[in-house]
Amino acid sequence: MLKGGCFCGAVRYEAEGEPRHETLCHCSICRRTTGAPIVAWFTVRAGDFRIVTGEPARFRSSAAATRTFCGACGTALTFRSDDHGDEIDVTTCSLDEPERLPPKSHTWRASGLSWIRSADGLPAYREKRAD
Ligand SMILES: [Zn+2]
Ligand SMILES: [Zn+2]
Repeated sequence: MLKGGCFCGAVRYEAEGEPRHETLCHCSICRRTTGAPIVAWFTVRAGDFRIVTGEPARFRSSAAATRTFCGACGTALTFRSDDHGDEIDVTTCSLDEPERLPPKSHTWRASGLSWIRSADGLPAYREKRAD
């Protein structure tokens, strides 16, 4: 069981099942919706994720995806693509224990900032992860 929530505690969630696709996303939408240069994510089956406290705010971040965040403190929480409605991406750093899910790759690296350079040895994909 993975537990997490937003900074202020108004929204809390739980996730079961096996987390997958732990990655550091460099895309411009993650960047602009969080104000951070890179965002760490993991993926679970949508049915394995539930909000247990509060109700996150949501918005369409592109023609094909919805993101949620805490309407009180602004913490980015989830990403869901219309094309992959059976899964949900969750921000790793909204977890109570983000150390449990270290990233295994970089994604959308071609969109990343020039001043972000990593030497972590993880594979870097120019765009989305190759499954
Ligand atoms: Zn909050
Ligand atoms: Zn992204």
